[in-house]
Amino acid sequence: MPDNLTFAGLAADPALSRGRRYPETDAPTRNAFQRDRDRIVHSTAFRRLVYKTQVFLNHEGDLFRTRLTHSLEVAQLGRSIARALGLNEDLVEAIALAHDLGHTPFGHAGQDALHDCMAEAGGFEHNLQSLRVVDELEERYPAFNGLNLCFETREGILKHCSRANAEVLEAREPGGVGRRFLEHTQPSLEAQLCNLADEIAYNAHDIDDGVRSGLITLEQVAQVPLFDRFFQEALREYPELKGRRLLYESIRRMLSAQVYDVIAATRETLCAMQGVSVDAVRRSPVVVTFSAAMRRQSIELKQFLFRNLYRHPQVMATTGAAQTVVRELFALYSLSPDQMQAGFRDRADQPRSIADYIAGMTDRFAAREHERLTGQRLLAP
Ligand code: MG
Repeated sequence: MPDNLTFAGLAADPALSRGRRYPETDAPTRNAFQRDRDRIVHSTAFRRLVYKTQVFLNHEGDLFRTRLTHSLEVAQLGRSIARALGLNEDLVEAIALAHDLGHTPFGHAGQDALHDCMAEAGGFEHNLQSLRVVDELEERYPAFNGLNLCFETREGILKHCSRANAEVLEAREPGGVGRRFLEHTQPSLEAQLCNLADEIAYNAHDIDDGVRSGLITLEQVAQVPLFDRFFQEALREYPELKGRRLLYESIRRMLSAQVYDVIAATRETLCAMQGVSVDAVRRSPVVVTFSAAMRRQSIELKQFLFRNLYRHPQVMATTGAAQTVVRELFALYSLSPDQMQAGFRDRADQPRSIADYIAGMTDRFAAREHERLTGQRLLAP
């Protein structure tokens, strides 16, 4: 199989987009996906990502990844893979930059706490919230709520969705972005690619941030076979290398190997599907994948990070405080909606408006707001 084989015929075509919820005239110089990417970059929710936690709380250090730098890394990896496969880079970039817009402050800890608070009101799920941000919550246009993105971008943003939520979406928008979760079909190749680019990005940068924070050591990560392969390779080539440069060199090699693996495995699958249509690809199992061997190794790495970093006692301690902040804010706003900003306090659909308000907060705004309302400082500024 030639290693420059591309599949442009299966790429999403902006000229064939299923369109926007509110029809608009075409832009003179940008296609529909480029326009979506630009709308996302200019959104308020995108700017807030810089102050939202990925793993480490935003105030714990200036060099750790935030949701913003994570999203940029996903976009960069996604574009590289898309280019190699001939898929649509603009759509990949738009989806990647928007994929985490719905994240609460304080990472998964914040999301879990908010989900509990919303248990009797439909729950809280960050993928659905990312869609809500671009569909409803951004206020930038005179004639409609949200950013009015194309179907293909919205479809990519909604990475997971429960059946119950898909039914709600389907009732609101028949045949729309909820449909595939009811029919068990796949999204575009570009959306599939973003899911994997997300995983490749966080596995790599969480090793980097984890070692930088001192919570895990290079020697510990070297017990993970996937990392160790590139760690040993780097040492063979540069026997004197140590510390940070050794870490970076090992991560860089691992990252490249994962990218090349996705490209090769996906190429093989698509070649075997010779001549299939875009629709047939959507009805097939997921096409953009790691090879079976790399999938296994990636899972091992994730399990290592889960045990040793995400569940590290020091991370868990801030997790507990962060969840208290979210829970107490939710309870306080439920009692006194007028403590929320205009636009949220006046909305009739509480408690959803409280969830939207809290989910939109940056880490530091949530911590300060909690301190303002309770007089307690649970998280360092
Ligand atoms: Mg992500």
